[in-house]
Amino acid sequence: MTVTLPTPPPRIARLPRNKVGYPVPWFVAWIDGQPDFRVVGIGKLDDAVRFRQCWLCGQALGANAAFVIGPMCAVNRVSAEPPSHRDCAIYAATACPFLTNPGMRRRGNNLPDEAADPDGIMIDRNPGVALVWISRTWRVRTDYRLFDVGDPTETRWYAEGREATRSEVLASITSGLPLLRAEAEKDRRPAAALAELDRQYTRALALVPGGAR
Ligand SMILES: [Zn+2]
Repeated sequence: MTVTLPTPPPRIARLPRNKVGYPVPWFVAWIDGQPDFRVVGIGKLDDAVRFRQCWLCGQALGANAAFVIGPMCAVNRVSAEPPSHRDCAIYAATACPFLTNPGMRRRGNNLPDEAADPDGIMIDRNPGVALVWISRTWRVRTDYRLFDVGDPTETRWYAEGREATRSEVLASITSGLPLLRAEAEKDRRPAAALAELDRQYTRALALVPGGAR
């Protein structure tokens, strides 16, 4: 079986392909000669940050940093992965089977030992909507596990490989909100944490396509 994919941008077109024809992102670990898309290769996170390499193609980033994130990350502005080129990120959001098929679940079993869960509040579910968050500012936290993304210059929302509708985006954000709210309630100062979450939520809604600006 081989897959039919959107035409990749040149930097992605140069990547190796797996058995069914998917380009293998630069960050992916190769295990026994096969790429395992669930696992980040050893040293890739360090290199991406230190040398400002695109997470998806491995080439040098420009001024723009594009993060492929779930819609809830528009609320808390956190990414578990370093940035990519804008065109690489858009390609991933439209071609990656995990991001484009809401029915697909992450396979959490049979992961090799080096696959570590990120710390912090990461929501382990397929959000159905993939967001490409483009910013000129970002920073990595000292433990390298999470990335704080700056104000966006552009946001693009996708579902099933096409542009997401306003109602899909809203449904995706709303369905994840109870998880963030539950985390805020566990905070040492829950009232302040919930107020901050409300502020973040309102800020995120202004980015949803099709709304009043
Ligand atoms: Zn790239």
